[in-house]
Amino acid sequence: MAATVPTPQQQIRRRNLSRVLHALSDGGPASRAAIAARIGLTRAAVSTLAEELLRAGLLVELGPGRPDGVGRPGTALALDEAGACGLGAEIGVDGLAVRAVDLRGRTRAHTTLPGAHRASAPDAVLTRLARLLEETTGRLAAQGLRPAGVAVAVPGMVARGSTVVVRAPNLGWPVTDLAEHLGRLRAPLAVDNEANYGALAELRLGGRPPGDDFVHVSAQTGIGAAVVLDGALLRGARGFAGELGHVPVHPEGPPCACGGRGCLEQYAGEEALLRAAGSAPGSGTGRLAARAAAGDTAARAALAAAGAALGIALAGAVNLLDPRTVVLGGALAGLGPWLLPPLERELAARTAAPGGPPEVVVSAAGPGGPLLGAAHSVVRAVLDDPLAPAHLRAAAPAGRVRP
Ligand SMILES: [Zn+2]
Repeated sequence: MAATVPTPQQQIRRRNLSRVLHALSDGGPASRAAIAARIGLTRAAVSTLAEELLRAGLLVELGPGRPDGVGRPGTALALDEAGACGLGAEIGVDGLAVRAVDLRGRTRAHTTLPGAHRASAPDAVLTRLARLLEETTGRLAAQGLRPAGVAVAVPGMVARGSTVVVRAPNLGWPVTDLAEHLGRLRAPLAVDNEANYGALAELRLGGRPPGDDFVHVSAQTGIGAAVVLDGALLRGARGFAGELGHVPVHPEGPPCACGGRGCLEQYAGEEALLRAAGSAPGSGTGRLAARAAAGDTAARAALAAAGAALGIALAGAVNLLDPRTVVLGGALAGLGPWLLPPLERELAARTAAPGGPPEVVVSAAGPGGPLLGAAHSVVRAVLDDPLAPAHLRAAAPAGRVRP
């Protein structure tokens, strides 16, 4: 069948269906009249849209419903906690993690699986991930949930709009298309850099205003940043925006894996930081934080140098983009007490704008941000386009599963 272009009326209907869902997601359960007031449509229009969403299995009627399924005027509507859900996964250097959230944003499944993925073979790791996702899908089915999509966060660069990891130095992978390994899941697959999903978690769950502007810096082994402008991720022409770890801090500094010299990662990356502090490689930033808290001079000096390097690199981003806030996430969040003072000092000294540098805060989502952001990105996709076939399939009420 040839694809048909939606008419303007159909486009408006789709947009309004999405607005009803977003109103309930943002403001919680509400009557038809209250939704109408929230989104500026008539109550009659909202009733018609709500009937369609109830039939699709995306909404439920709260309170005493009538057996014929026709909603009563005063009854509250809510997003359906059965049916469609978002399934997120994270591939880290130390393991895999999977998390599912329902349309109301509640976690319904969460599993972590340790593994040594540094310099690993993609086949073995992705086979384990596919099995983990299948097991999770089975457990979700027992709760009446079906994934409307799968979103995978990776510590590497992903070609824009694709499922292809083109560079993942810490995993040591060649160019790898995740769709070739995860295609059996029968749900749309999205793949993105972990920093981007971390920023989405911050945007959706960190209490930020919808159109906020901020730079979210996170570290696993490398250092990545995600730039959010007017509430949307800045991706760059090829999808590779945000490589803050390779911004030069000292142009004649030590060589970096990227081919450059003196990159931020050589001063504030986890490996560099542990080396500078005299810690064993792989001993983790948690132990480094404990040493710093106990007053260890070498640990504090390494963190002070890393914070200053972060401030110098971020000054470039701040002068270029003028964000409202800089957010430290991932492993950096736990090092905030020692990184922030030198970071803020460098930023203040180098910010051109009157009024000084933006506020620097520690992420509310914490180290789990990327996984949470991945799962929530699927839920957002359902709310944005409830009539997409994969979303309708996942949402279809039990016994009425569409082919
Ligand atoms: Zn570099």
